[in-house]
Amino acid sequence: MELWQQMVRDSVHTVDELVERFKIDRKVAEDLDEFFQARINPYYLSLIRYPGDPIWRQCVPDQAELEDFDAEEDPLMEDAMSPVQNITHRYPDRALFLVTSQCGMYCRFCTRKRKVGDYEKISMKGLESAFKYLEEHTEIRDVIMSGGDPLMLTDTMLEKIIQRLRSIPHIEIIRIGSKMPCVLPHRITPQLCNMLKNYHPIYLNTHFNHPWEITPESSRACEMLADAGIPVGNQMVLMKGVNDDPAVVKELMQKLLKIRVRPYYMYMADETKGANHFRTSIETGLNIIENLRGHTSGLAIPHFVIDAPGGGGKIPLVPNYVVHHDENKIILRNYQNKIYSYKNYYDKLNPNSKNGRPGKNGKNHKTKVKELEFTKIELPVLEEVEN
Ligand code: SF4
Repeated sequence: MELWQQMVRDSVHTVDELVERFKIDRKVAEDLDEFFQARINPYYLSLIRYPGDPIWRQCVPDQAELEDFDAEEDPLMEDAMSPVQNITHRYPDRALFLVTSQCGMYCRFCTRKRKVGDYEKISMKGLESAFKYLEEHTEIRDVIMSGGDPLMLTDTMLEKIIQRLRSIPHIEIIRIGSKMPCVLPHRITPQLCNMLKNYHPIYLNTHFNHPWEITPESSRACEMLADAGIPVGNQMVLMKGVNDDPAVVKELMQKLLKIRVRPYYMYMADETKGANHFRTSIETGLNIIENLRGHTSGLAIPHFVIDAPGGGGKIPLVPNYVVHHDENKIILRNYQNKIYSYKNYYDKLNPNSKNGRPGKNGKNHKTKVKELEFTKIELPVLEEVEN
């Protein structure tokens, strides 16, 4: 047995352990175990500094999970968009492929609480029909392996799945969604990296939510993946009491870049049953982005998105930097609230225009401009105007 497998086996997971270690009321611990089991491996457990800290909140079951009466179990409608077992096909050219129900740690905010940890609900029996679907759907060029955590599979099993995907000519890109570099970095071994690099292009998206998760062990894991030529991106979830603070997010993003992980998404927490106590206001998220843009490298700024309830997919949110927009110009504010004007360019709207000036025949141009939505917002501070 490899070290990481032993660590999974040594995880805190029973009701007795929850009562003893975290002083959870026994009845509540039993109900929580029934709702969504716990798995806290010794490595992630060692990152907790005090009760209720950002690490604790992500892994220790909380009574609030049981008080979530109205939310949906599957707010992203992954199951409704599942044509065959183990596949969700939402976007035209890519598909989500669930390859295991198991994870190195069970996150209390997980959006797949309804099936993660349950061998019946994400079953290996569904793999064959999933491969068949991927083979038949030639429009799919990008497959995202997820679960559960694909890196809970042994190297041998993982390689078999990847080989099968690589045998499908129209699949260009394989992505692995794995929290292991963060929650159990011992899983990233030289053998795993050597195997993966035979099947490029392989991308890996991981899931750091707090700067305390960047340790010598997790740094080494991410650097090993990068050395194997695997671009590593990070998908952070914005969560109350974990990272709803601009300084925390900035530190996390800067530290991720240092270990060669590219901040990719910052999600609003999904409206998932049993996870709504993590949700923050949208303004909290916009404020965090405002405090990143211009204040640190653009490389450190993730896309801030809502994964739309009802299966609408990821929709980006950005602070409003547009003060005014009309047919002649756009007026913008920068990160310091200084105001800048930029002349509108007409060529795309009016083929008669030249060098960015409106053409003499303004008929076509005027008709199209009516379709634009003009925006005007009140600004708190106007420090400077440049024309
Ligand atoms: S690792 Fe991913 S799938 Fe597993 S519990 Fe955490 S968020 Fe859910």
